[in-house]
Amino acid sequence: HQLIDVRKVTKIYKGRIHALRNITFSIKQGEFVYVIGASGAGKSTLLKLLYREEIQTFGSIKIGNTFASQITHKQLYLLRRQLGVVMQSDLFLSNRTVFENIAVCVEAVSGANNSKVAIRTNEALDVVGMLDKSSRKINELSIGQQKRVAIARAIVNHPSIVLADEPTANLDAKAALEIMKLFFKINSMGTTVIMATHDSTMVNTVRERVLELSKGELVRDEQDGGYTRYP
Ligand code: ADP
Ligand code: ADP
Repeated sequence: HQLIDVRKVTKIYKGRIHALRNITFSIKQGEFVYVIGASGAGKSTLLKLLYREEIQTFGSIKIGNTFASQITHKQLYLLRRQLGVVMQSDLFLSNRTVFENIAVCVEAVSGANNSKVAIRTNEALDVVGMLDKSSRKINELSIGQQKRVAIARAIVNHPSIVLADEPTANLDAKAALEIMKLFFKINSMGTTVIMATHDSTMVNTVRERVLELSKGELVRDEQDGGYTRYP
C-alpha cells in the first residue's frame, strides 16, 4: 500500500512554464526521500503540489485515500492534518513565545482542549530540543533554533508525512547537522519524510532514496542514491 501516489503529473504555471513534466512515483509509509536537482528543477513545486498549495495541471496525486485535486477548500484541513510542512520562509508570530506559536497550531487543527494542547505542544518541543526555550520570543532565537520551532510545528499534530524544503539552507555546518538529525529522528519514529535539499554531503553520507529532478523531469529514482549518479 502506497502512502503517496503521483501519476503522470505535469505542472504548468501561467500556461507556459513547465515546472514538472509527466512525473510518476510512489512513496510508502515510513520512507525517507531526498528530492534533489538544480535551482528551478521543480523541487518546491513538487512539495507544493503534495500539500495542495498548488494544483497539478495534468495527472493525479493521491495522499492516503484522498485525491489531492478533489479536496475542497473546506476539507483542506484534513490533508494538512496528515502533512506537516517545513518551508524555506516559515512565518511565526514573532512577538509571541515559542509555546504560543506551536499551541496555536494544535488548536487550529484539532479543536483540542487546553490541557491536550499543552501536552502536545510540550511533546513536540521536547522532540526538537526546545522545551527549555518554550517561553522565549521567536525573535530572540537563532535561525537554527527558529528552524527547530518550525519542525516542532510541523510534527505537533502527529502527521504521517513531513515535507521539508531545504531546511538546512542558511545554516552553518554544525546547525545543519543538528537539523538533519532531527529529521532522521522523526523518520525513525515512523513519519514519512520528503526533503528537498542541496546538501550533497548529507545526501552522500546518510544514504536514502533519492528523487532527482532536472528541468521538471524525474531523471532518477534511486534507493540509497548519492547526490550524483556516479560519485
Ligand atoms: P500568487 O500566489 O498570488 O501568485 P506569489 O507571491 O506566489 O503570489 O507570486 C507572485 C508572482 O510571481 C506571481 O505572478 C507568481 O506566478 C510569480 N512567481 C512566484 N514564484 C515564482 C517563481 N519561483 N518563478 C517565477 N515566477 C514566480
Ligand atoms: P526548485 O524548487 O527546484 O528551485 P521551483 O519548483 O521553485 O524549482 O521552480 C520550477 C520552475 O517553475 C522554475 O522555472 C520557476 O521559475 C517556475 N515557477 C515556480 N513557481 C512559479 C510560479 N508561482 N509562477 C510561475 N513560475 C513559477
